[in-house]
Amino acid sequence: MVREFLLCLRLRCPMCWQGAMFAHPLKMNAQCSHCGHVFDRGNGYFIGAMYSSYLISTGSGILLLAALVLTGHLSLHFPFTERDWLALVAVAVFVLVLGPLITFPYSRVFWVWAERNGLWHHGDAGRPDRLPLSPAPTDDSSK
Ligand SMILES: [Zn+2]
Repeated sequence: MVREFLLCLRLRCPMCWQGAMFAHPLKMNAQCSHCGHVFDRGNGYFIGAMYSSYLISTGSGILLLAALVLTGHLSLHFPFTERDWLALVAVAVFVLVLGPLITFPYSRVFWVWAERNGLWHHGDAGRPDRLPLSPAPTDDSSK
């Protein structure tokens, strides 16, 4: 399982690890060119991937802040200097703009892989509001 998790970093189809899941980092292929797995399986399928992308970006930002403090590039003393503000703005830009762009494809590959391994299930097929409509009752007055 750890090996497959690391294979997610190659942005390959989590079903066969052969076909590319992305044409380029911001454009996902509709299906795997090797096994034919359809990646986007309906509205809301990748909402959880957005959360994981956000968590990865935020965690990276916290690590970046800690690294800046530990290396002396950011002081924690008020009032902040101009250099401190610059470091904080750089971290904010990273977390809010660059982080999600960088983690977008990885979070989607991880999301498909997580469903394949049973960590979550796209289970809206059984919800009452998703059940197929039953046929309308027929008027049997011709008897
Ligand atoms: Zn595949």
